[in-house]
Amino acid sequence: MRYISTRGEAPALGFEDVLLTGLATDGGLYVPESLPHFSLEEIRSWRGLSYSELAFNVMHPFVDDAVPADDFRKMLNETYAVFAHPAVAPLVQLDTNEWVMELFRGPTLAFKDFALQLLGRLLDYVLEKRQQHVVIMGATSGDTGSAAIEGCRRCEHVDIFILHPYQRVSEVQRRQMTTVQGDNIHNIAVRGNFDDCQRMVKESFSNQSFLGGKTQLAAVNSINWARIMAQIVYYFHASLALGGPDRSMAFSVPTGNFGDIFAGYLAKKMGLPISQLVIATNRNDILHRFMSGNKYEQHQLEHTLSPSMDIMVSSNFERLLFDLHGRDGLAVKTLLENAAKGPVSIEDYRWKHARKLFDSDAVDDKATCDTIREIYQQNEYLLDPHTAIGVRAARNCRRDPAVPMITLGTAHPAKFPDAVAESGLSVQPPLPAHMADLFEREERYTVLDNNIAGVQEFIAKNWKNT
Ligand SMILES: *Cc1c(COP(=O)(O)O)cnc(C)c1O
Repeated sequence: MRYISTRGEAPALGFEDVLLTGLATDGGLYVPESLPHFSLEEIRSWRGLSYSELAFNVMHPFVDDAVPADDFRKMLNETYAVFAHPAVAPLVQLDTNEWVMELFRGPTLAFKDFALQLLGRLLDYVLEKRQQHVVIMGATSGDTGSAAIEGCRRCEHVDIFILHPYQRVSEVQRRQMTTVQGDNIHNIAVRGNFDDCQRMVKESFSNQSFLGGKTQLAAVNSINWARIMAQIVYYFHASLALGGPDRSMAFSVPTGNFGDIFAGYLAKKMGLPISQLVIATNRNDILHRFMSGNKYEQHQLEHTLSPSMDIMVSSNFERLLFDLHGRDGLAVKTLLENAAKGPVSIEDYRWKHARKLFDSDAVDDKATCDTIREIYQQNEYLLDPHTAIGVRAARNCRRDPAVPMITLGTAHPAKFPDAVAESGLSVQPPLPAHMADLFEREERYTVLDNNIAGVQEFIAKNWKNT
């Protein structure tokens, strides 16, 4: 399998190189040159498979000979064995033909574990083969950092440095990062805000001389192709559990960076019958505004009760734009260069095509809280604020009640107790058993000034130089 850039100018790469690369050299994102396609008969034959067996069937065409079949099967067994539910992604029924797929049974209680648990193992496998080492550098305001750290904790060929804004992440989120023990894990609390952290990461990627040529940086943010790939699997899993592929499904997906929903779009293109895909955003609704009015325009960042979807631009949307433009990289490049300067639109027929593929809705904090409260009163089931946005959007946008509507449950409610409290409920979502002692565990992090030279010096000194 070859991968090409959405901006048309970077060289095509194989899976291993795409895994180790962030942005393409032309500023684009890597996508597969062509997608595997599965017949209904083939998908039907996957009924009753375990999650990891299903994951093998869906992902192996993408990974190809980078990981031989037996090794990949073993890797997937290990990856999905760490999830705290035997079904890995269990479905919970809310109403007639309405479901939540719980994607938060992994080590950090958010769906990002599905991809990052696999990504850590893939990286280590490929680096062992190549006898190479990488430094992962990332900035986080919440979920990504902890999922990435958990994913890399057992990697021999990876050091991970995660920057978070000092005293500006919630205690649960900080502790999920800083209590993971491992001498390849490095948490840096920067005396600055999230943007300062992100800027340092960006600048470090574009000039890696501080590493002295002895290692290289790798990215684990949501633009990494392997993350999208791992997210395709659970669409197949939900469909097969509810009578697919002999009936089609609808999905509602809480999204900010267009990662999770893009995976659903790919599942459909790979042959899975999906009749509706709902983009569910919070007040940071650039995607919903584009879908409703064909205008792609940055607004100010709003802080909401669903912080993991607080974005101004939606990085993976570029991958959809590439398809909408008939995979013309130059057209995408021009469009996004213009988008950096001001609002842009696409040709009407292309936009209409996008509207056929997706419905969308934006849900504010009040409606989020109303939904948490309503579902708790009806079902005694507690939603986290991100999932609540998905459920609200599903109900607002639903087209056909005969089609099962599945909302992706992206986080455990215990990660976001403030939203639960704000919804007026007096229940306290308890942390699951494997995290019950989170507040007693020893923390390890280093506080550094808001100064890139100091941060880079710390990284250069502390990655294990073997
Ligand atoms: C990251 C995250 C999202 C948004 O994911 P996208 O990659 O933007 O689709 C939604 N909910 C939770 C809980 C998250 O951590």
